[in-house]
Amino acid sequence: MKSTRSSSILVFLSLVLTLCAPPTATLAWGPHGEVTRAAQEVLPEREKAAAYFGNEWRSLQGYSSMPDMRNSVREDFFPNDFLLWPKVPKHSQHMMPEVAATYAPYFHRALQALRTETPPNAARWIGSLIHYIEDSGAPCHAKPIKGEMHKRLENWLNGKDITIAGYEPQLLGKDDASALRGLQERAKRLVAYSKERAENIYAKVEALQQREDQPVILECANESARAVADLLHTLFTLAPMTPSSPSLAGRVTWPAKLPLPKQPAKVMLLGTDYSTLTDTNGAWSFQKLPANSYRVAIERYGASTAIVQSDDCASVKLPPTDPPGNLVRNGDFKLRWLTANAPDFWNPIPATQRLKGWESDTIRVRSNVVYRVGIADPQPGVRYGVRWRSSTSSPKTLSTNVVWSADIAEHELTPVPYAATAQLLVLSNKPLTNAVSRVWLVPAK
Ligand SMILES: [Zn+2]
Repeated sequence: MKSTRSSSILVFLSLVLTLCAPPTATLAWGPHGEVTRAAQEVLPEREKAAAYFGNEWRSLQGYSSMPDMRNSVREDFFPNDFLLWPKVPKHSQHMMPEVAATYAPYFHRALQALRTETPPNAARWIGSLIHYIEDSGAPCHAKPIKGEMHKRLENWLNGKDITIAGYEPQLLGKDDASALRGLQERAKRLVAYSKERAENIYAKVEALQQREDQPVILECANESARAVADLLHTLFTLAPMTPSSPSLAGRVTWPAKLPLPKQPAKVMLLGTDYSTLTDTNGAWSFQKLPANSYRVAIERYGASTAIVQSDDCASVKLPPTDPPGNLVRNGDFKLRWLTANAPDFWNPIPATQRLKGWESDTIRVRSNVVYRVGIADPQPGVRYGVRWRSSTSSPKTLSTNVVWSADIAEHELTPVPYAATAQLLVLSNKPLTNAVSRVWLVPAK
């Protein structure tokens, strides 16, 4: 590590891995994609859906793992943008009973996406919704069971065997409200089905010395696929896949050579639950929006946020960040769409971590690059730093955080070995925007 440090202001805080590593990676129902595939195969609307969604119809199988990709960085989008919105500003739990709280908001959000957004955006929101339904039917989520037995009870099956050929998907309701009630009832039956089976096979599976796929876990996966088929059939009945002319649309441009070149921009209507991502060329549209005048916020990784009235949104140029190419999302804190309490893409550091303050969204870094990390206008007592994290797909905290006082407003350093992502930390008891005016992490030239 290289830095312009003096030893008195550089403090290394070693944090025990177990305090930081989230358990998400081990809590994934093995065959999400296969459950989704089996449900797609029996849909009466499957041909229409394949035509409407194009490549995204197959991609839905991957999108059904969206909530397991939380806080990760994909080349093509940030999964968090299909998991969080003002109605659900924080990540949800995937186990019973908490997972049941996801059905209503994600059902309405998926319907909203089908009605108002482009097919790729809708496919991704549907992926988030069906993940939670599929999780509800995993034996270890339905019961619920943690630890080693959790892994066995959701992975000891061959995903390729999942099939519900001949099943006729059921309509869960004829309007949004009755369909939601129908979905909640359907999920309740799914949970009961898988919970009973988890209890019946627990002792047998626990006694096994090595992996043996269990037909009864396959049964649970098939029942999950039936529930997802019912849900998809209902979504496509309530929101038939019919394109209509846009009610609000525009095109965004951004400075050249920004990081993550395949990233789109994100468009949010402030004070509403409406949001969408542009295509890679910056084009975006909503259809069937309530007629209204909106304040439109547009952000893109590496650029500064623009906020315009809907009358002026046809062509918007995102300004560069200060300094240019800032890798910290919302590093100037200008965007507040998710909640009024804090800037988007910033969260309080979890209480388990001994540091008090704020952590940024996930930042993509490379271990052979020197970075400049800095803060502007720090209030007395503020400290700041970096937390190096592992992979882009499932970031975990590596063992070291670097923390500085604000005496020196910028440092240069390289990531620790194996770091692929980072979070910028602002340590303060104050609200973030009272502690500093902006922060940055940029490659040093
Ligand atoms: Zn899950």
